[in-house]
Amino acid sequence: MTDSETPEEFRVRARAFIQANLERADPEDPKRLEQPEAKVLQATIFDAGFAGIAVPKEYGGAGLTLEHQKVWAEEVNGYVVPATLFVSIGMLGITLLDHGSETLKARHIPRILRGDEVWMQLLSEPSGGSDMAAAMTRATRDGDTWVINGAKMWSTGAATADYGMCLARTDWDAPKHKGLSMFAVPLQQPDVTIEPIVSIEGGPAHFFQEYFDDVSLPADHLIGEENEGWSVAHSLLFHERNATAGVGHGLGLGGGHGDGGGADGHGVEDLVRSAAKAGTLGDAATRQLIAEAYVAQQARDHTNDRVGVGMRTGQFKGDWGSLLKLGLALDTLRRGEIGLIVGGVDGVIWNDDGPDAGGAGNRWLGARSISIAGGTNEMQRNIVSERLLGMPREPATDRDIPFREVVARRPKPE
Ligand SMILES: Cc1cc2nc3c(=O)[nH]c(=O)nc-3n(C[C@H](O)[C@H](O)[C@H](O)COP(=O)(O)OP(=O)(O)OC[C@H]3O[C@@H](n4cnc5c(N)ncnc54)[C@H](O)[C@@H]3O)c2cc1C
Repeated sequence: MTDSETPEEFRVRARAFIQANLERADPEDPKRLEQPEAKVLQATIFDAGFAGIAVPKEYGGAGLTLEHQKVWAEEVNGYVVPATLFVSIGMLGITLLDHGSETLKARHIPRILRGDEVWMQLLSEPSGGSDMAAAMTRATRDGDTWVINGAKMWSTGAATADYGMCLARTDWDAPKHKGLSMFAVPLQQPDVTIEPIVSIEGGPAHFFQEYFDDVSLPADHLIGEENEGWSVAHSLLFHERNATAGVGHGLGLGGGHGDGGGADGHGVEDLVRSAAKAGTLGDAATRQLIAEAYVAQQARDHTNDRVGVGMRTGQFKGDWGSLLKLGLALDTLRRGEIGLIVGGVDGVIWNDDGPDAGGAGNRWLGARSISIAGGTNEMQRNIVSERLLGMPREPATDRDIPFREVVARRPKPE
């Protein structure tokens, strides 16, 4: 590999590696690697120089570009990939790259890219997730250490992650967006209690609630500057929405939404297979529904390409990932409904094996999560209208006053 390797030269090299080292995904039985297997596969990908394709070499990446990342996504499509590491590598590692100190970046990014260390996000709280800047988890400085107290919620993968990127309040006298800081919190330790949350689709718990009781952190676990945590959180959400929608660094890591990598059972071809199994493929009404899903998929693919190119060339700046993620969430919900209709009997029964169980019923239940995770559809609509279309901001009475006063004004629980 040379620094000037073109995307097409990279494609040849990537294809040879993928064919020799990755397993073809079975569309009849979408396989999701458990974390231990995913880590082994990620180590193979890293050791061959294909992890963190657009991450600088000094942090263990391949030092190439997002265009090469897109080529990787195209080549890996239809293969089993280490999808459980998608959040850690495609979102958290990249946020650390944007904001971490040299110490943090050098220590953690190579380990994240190799899958040796797994990171997840600790943003939402029991009191609410959409208004993330209203975080109540507290970090207090005590000499050379920070002490964290509070609770987080809906945290994907906390039980098996090594570190959480945790948004905590460090200044209660500053307005709510200006008194937050971001920390790297080691999760598997006695002062952190992690409890599972049972989700609607059943299966093993994949998100959790955590309680922090005097969790002590060395000063160098601060990510970015003190009281600048909002900009770190904003970057994290930016990368999350891009990665989920299938643009940027998360491409081809198996986010499971048609971005390349694996098979998630949500594709148009899955609808065709399901209708054939139910014996309804010849029905005009079924064909109409599948055509609707196909047209939506084509429109979304082209929009993703257009925005992806615009972001890579610098023509599109800002929160375009929110627009794509909103489109993805609306399509996924509709495809879930179509899946139920065309799937016949398969559409009205589901088991408790979770969203990967393969049936139309399980997929319909699981489809809802994308319209909530990473910010709800309503929040994406707010972002699109305010930041992309330039419409007036949503009124807020708590933006410019000390957060301590915001809390004091809240109605007390009965
Ligand atoms: C599958 C999944 C994985 C997740 N993983 C993580 C994770 O790893 N880490 C993490 O920190 N969080 C995670 N979350 C939590 C997620 O970020 C929150 O659920 C989400 O931000 C919404 O917050 P909430 O559930 O507290 O709803 P609330 O904020 O209480 O909102 C309730 C309702 O009010 C609406 N609403 C709120 N404010 C407005 C407004 N200003 N304008 C219009 N409507 C509004 C919302 O759209 C929603 O319909 C995950 C969620 C899911 C479903």
